[in-house]
Amino acid sequence: MAAELPKKQTPLALRKPGQGNTLVPITPDVCFGGEKLVLIGGPCAVESQSQILETALAVKNGGGVMLRGGAWKPRTSPYDFQGLKEEGLLFLAKAREATGLPIVTEVLDPRDVAIVSEVADMLQIGSRSVQNFPLLREVGLTNKPVLLKRGMMTTVDEWLAAAEYILAAGNANVVFCERGIRTFDSTLRNTLDVGAVAVLKQKTHLPVIVDPSHAAGDFRYVAALARAAVAAGADGLLVETHCHPADALSDAGQSLTPEQFAQLKTECSAVASAVGRVL
Ligand code: PEP
Ligand code: MN
Repeated sequence: MAAELPKKQTPLALRKPGQGNTLVPITPDVCFGGEKLVLIGGPCAVESQSQILETALAVKNGGGVMLRGGAWKPRTSPYDFQGLKEEGLLFLAKAREATGLPIVTEVLDPRDVAIVSEVADMLQIGSRSVQNFPLLREVGLTNKPVLLKRGMMTTVDEWLAAAEYILAAGNANVVFCERGIRTFDSTLRNTLDVGAVAVLKQKTHLPVIVDPSHAAGDFRYVAALARAAVAAGADGLLVETHCHPADALSDAGQSLTPEQFAQLKTECSAVASAVGRVL
């Protein structure tokens, strides 16, 4: 058995004996951790007002209840599209106004936490930031729910400890998001660790969702991974969706069309009801 962190290192993140599931509400209608799963859709990056608006409408039509889209993008190369930043936030806010969908968007830099918090309904901490401790502390000081992605080389216990930074700073609303890890096999972009979903659902009282898009890296496999995630007990899904995937400025290959997104929703709803949940 793998060595575990002493319980005293993650007292707030771990489930105490007999402790129920913590609910993380976003709006009166959208809540993580209950019987109902949360389906989040939207592009990798906010690219323009019309792109995010068109996608938001498609996500809503396809059964999504929350909108994603990065205004700040963590890119491997500094020469790749870095996001529209403040302007992207304004476009997201307009898309929310038009659709009523709450927004989750990534914050990359502790210095941007205040400005992103002004607009976002939920702050995303990306994989590459999971051990950016000053950033974790800073989002922990806000009252915004936090979506904490797993790092591509983060163990479950390290991930729990990252959540502990946010919880210890006073923010109780943390949702874990498994998005695939690096393994020996590069057939897919990452390897979705479905087992970690099952383990985390035992270890923590906090909600756990899955991002099948970054795990697959290929639109053809996203729905299969999403179905597996729901079967394993995930509390929601984060799915990259684009009205014109071929034109996407980032993660084009893994983005679903609105039709594929709606199809994923239908399939995952069936799996959800098979495991006593609702999507
Ligand atoms: C994203 O959600 O667009 C993203 C950058 O994801 P990750 O941090 O999981 O790579
Ligand atoms: Mn992406």
